[in-house]
Amino acid sequence: MTLNAHTHLYSGLARFGMPAPDPQPRNFVEILERVWWRLDRALDEQSLAAAASFYAAEARALGTTAIIDHHESPNMIEGSLDILADVCQELGMRALLCYGATERNGGIAEARRGLAECRRFILSNRRPLIQGAIGLHAAFTVSDETIRAAGDLCRDLGVRLHVHVAEDAVDRDGFRRLAANHALVEGSILAHGVHLSSDEVRAAERAGCWLVHNPRSNRANGVGYASVLRASPRVVLGTDGFPSDMHAEAAALDEVQPLVRQRIETSVALAKEIFGPALPPPAIAEAEREAQLLWKRMQDLREGVSDVSPMEKQHR
Ligand SMILES: [Zn+2]
Repeated sequence: MTLNAHTHLYSGLARFGMPAPDPQPRNFVEILERVWWRLDRALDEQSLAAAASFYAAEARALGTTAIIDHHESPNMIEGSLDILADVCQELGMRALLCYGATERNGGIAEARRGLAECRRFILSNRRPLIQGAIGLHAAFTVSDETIRAAGDLCRDLGVRLHVHVAEDAVDRDGFRRLAANHALVEGSILAHGVHLSSDEVRAAERAGCWLVHNPRSNRANGVGYASVLRASPRVVLGTDGFPSDMHAEAAALDEVQPLVRQRIETSVALAKEIFGPALPPPAIAEAEREAQLLWKRMQDLREGVSDVSPMEKQHR
């Protein structure tokens, strides 16, 4: 099983035709405000399904068989996880899905709706390849009350939390607040950790959490290189919206070979913990049919969006 341990299906079409932000963002928070938070507010049912289809089909073609997704669509919260789940199930992609609850648009009421969407999905989902988690965007966009509610929900439902942690210095306090509000439940997935201290990395390991290194995204956003993650072996790889090419992600690691191998092997271990043992590969005829379907879908989606946008050029 090849796992992408942190990504965003909703951004699947961002590389085709996103308008360049004006003025250009000068730091991480401005990149969020001027690019990603504008995109996620614009998502509707159709654009989300198209983005997820493209991303998941391409991921299959690139060899990824399991995805841990982190989703936000503030103007379409309820039911959004079902859209992602249907796409992944249909394409044969194992997926752990969550809605990243946040207070950045509508305060605590918005966060409650985000957590409720996670809960609704976890309790209602019956798709064999798909599972649910509780999500928070990041500690710096939610109150302590929301963090506590997320931790309580994880314990009530017996599921893990998925959250961005210390991606940028703006969230330096994130790990401390998650710990203080009892949200670091065992098995939780902490994306980035660039600005954690080595003590916090070891504390995450003791709590049974997993840290996700996303070196290409970190470089593109100028937030730094997460060398502090060397303090723990419970570190896996994610692409954070970049195409789900796990070889390219591993190649972006600035690490000695044994550690690169360890990250890849640890990703396999996490995939097994979430999804169970790998299923046998499909029969040849079935695999060929599936590949053709994926290829057709990618061609359909590519039609009319052939040029790479200025945003894409700047982002890479
Ligand atoms: Zn992310």
